[in-house]
Amino acid sequence: MSRVALVTGGQRGIGAAISEALKAAGRKVVASYAGNDAAAAAFTERTGIPCIKFDVSDFEQCAAAVQKIEAEHGPIEILVNNAGITRDGTMKRLSRQMWDDVIDTNLGSCYNLCKLVWDGMMARQFGRIVNIGSINGQAGQYGQVNYAAAKSGIHGFTKALAQEGARAHITVNAIAPGYVDTEMVRAVPPEVLEKIVARIPIGRLGRAEDIARGVVFLTADEAEFITGSTLSINGGQHMY
Ligand code: NDP
Repeated sequence: MSRVALVTGGQRGIGAAISEALKAAGRKVVASYAGNDAAAAAFTERTGIPCIKFDVSDFEQCAAAVQKIEAEHGPIEILVNNAGITRDGTMKRLSRQMWDDVIDTNLGSCYNLCKLVWDGMMARQFGRIVNIGSINGQAGQYGQVNYAAAKSGIHGFTKALAQEGARAHITVNAIAPGYVDTEMVRAVPPEVLEKIVARIPIGRLGRAEDIARGVVFLTADEAEFITGSTLSINGGQHMY
């Protein structure tokens, strides 16, 4: 069914694969991004998927964007909270700014966008929400106190909101990707990455498409009985 899907951070990395997979599944997809205009223009040209620029950590910008998307395309029935950043540093180096940036972008964004689409989903008695967490929110990671806290928060957020949406046929699930070959992971020093890959039973990094397949599955109309769950897609690296 041609439902409208908003994928945050949906024009590159994992988000781009999610946007394309949802489009292939027949959804009307809008991809959001923060500032990388070149990536957005190239993505729209290649896929035909429209992109919209706003900061997911800013409630007012989110509100204006949701209003614009719904006016142009129709009500958002599928929301994928994928946008995320890292600002890594051990506690010794972890500034208040690095903490706030990661919490606001990765976790605050889930509040902002869920809050803004929630009443509409409730009124229509249908919704599919997928929040992208992380293996590092499940297991923790040295030098990522801020990121692990935000991603772990996403998992709790998901379980709580799922309980509120269930009777209205709104499902809320999370996906916890392992290490996926995107720019975020390419920023990890090669010697560290080599050690990480050695710990992945499947023997390779994840591909963005591996995550996208999970999003298509969880957002299907038929997936109503799956809510409040976290789907780990990590090549067996962490069995939780
Ligand atoms: P990328 O760094 O490749 O892309 C991040 C995306 O988020 C971009 O589209 C970016 O927009 C957007 N974005 C960042 N900040 C904001 C903001 N403030 N407002 C709006 N959009 C924003 O990330 P990945 O594809 O690697 O990761 C996608 C998600 O998956 C993230 O939540 C990440 O934490 C999670 N994840 C990734 C893993 C991995 O191994 N790659 C592992 C586990 C989880 P722009 O291009 O304009 O900057």
